[in-house]
Amino acid sequence: MGRNRLNLAIGLGATCSGCDITIVDLAEYLPKVLSSVNIAFWPTAADLKLKDLEAMANGSIDLCLYHGAIVNEENAEMARLLRRKSKLMVAFGSCACFGGVPGLANLATKDSLLETVYGTPSTDNPKGLKPQGEALVGEYRMAVPKRLDAVLPLSGVVEVDYSIPGCPPQTSQVKDAFEAILSSDLPPRGSVIGPAKNLCDECPRKREGKSISKIVRAHETIADQERCLLDQGILCMGPATRAGCDAKCIKANMRCEGCMGPPDGVGDQGAKMLGAIASILGLEGEDKMSEEDVARLMDGIVDPVGLFYLFSLPSSILRRRLWEV
Ligand code: SF4
Repeated sequence: MGRNRLNLAIGLGATCSGCDITIVDLAEYLPKVLSSVNIAFWPTAADLKLKDLEAMANGSIDLCLYHGAIVNEENAEMARLLRRKSKLMVAFGSCACFGGVPGLANLATKDSLLETVYGTPSTDNPKGLKPQGEALVGEYRMAVPKRLDAVLPLSGVVEVDYSIPGCPPQTSQVKDAFEAILSSDLPPRGSVIGPAKNLCDECPRKREGKSISKIVRAHETIADQERCLLDQGILCMGPATRAGCDAKCIKANMRCEGCMGPPDGVGDQGAKMLGAIASILGLEGEDKMSEEDVARLMDGIVDPVGLFYLFSLPSSILRRRLWEV
């Protein structure tokens, strides 16, 4: 192993591991990365155990890319351990940056989640058994990590130096991050690696900005491929979402779901999107809509939290649903 190579860790919490695929997907750039790093820890791809990580000196890892949300005590402990061992800690992917899709669990309680998943008898689990704290499996004592009261982004448990959003992140962002680190030309701490602007700024569609009279769900129509989806009444999250994905979903005639999170200067993605919708509702001028028409239009928004906060609920101003106790 070369002495000048970076010690790289790729840690994970609650994740689908699509972020791991982004690294493998670096294609012709991958050999450059692999020849520039020592893999210090990457459970998905290398046979390194927790005890190996624990044995490393604090600060001995140059760069940790951490993907996945913080859902349970094991995720939180892994994040804290990697933070101690790493000089730079990067929230990698939308789950680590904002809580991601697992963050929608913040709409439910721990008990109701367990009841939904395990309480309904199935062929796999005919007795509806729920996970126990500890169990003996042969000679081994297995423990199920305790779920936290709420899903958190990585920044909910440790200090984060940089963020690379996306579900998964784009290979171009990963390349930019490695180039910056390998050349020691890092942006200011706390930066998001990606363009500051929103997706509409890189979208190829024609935008007229006309008022809409009907909200259309994506499965109810085949959208015109040339025109802005919002103009067609389809609630595309482009105005409230960071650019940098090359508008891949839009080019496939699908609405943006917001996986890149909010652009620079926007604190809450859902609130920004509500503002964008308000501006196309036709609430002003001679042809302004009646309150009844506006109410009817808003009724067309099914599952508003899932629509506006699909990737960002735990880091939004809402964070979680509150329950009476
Ligand atoms: Fe493109 Fe969506 Fe923005 Fe319209 S709202 S310009 S379709 S990104």
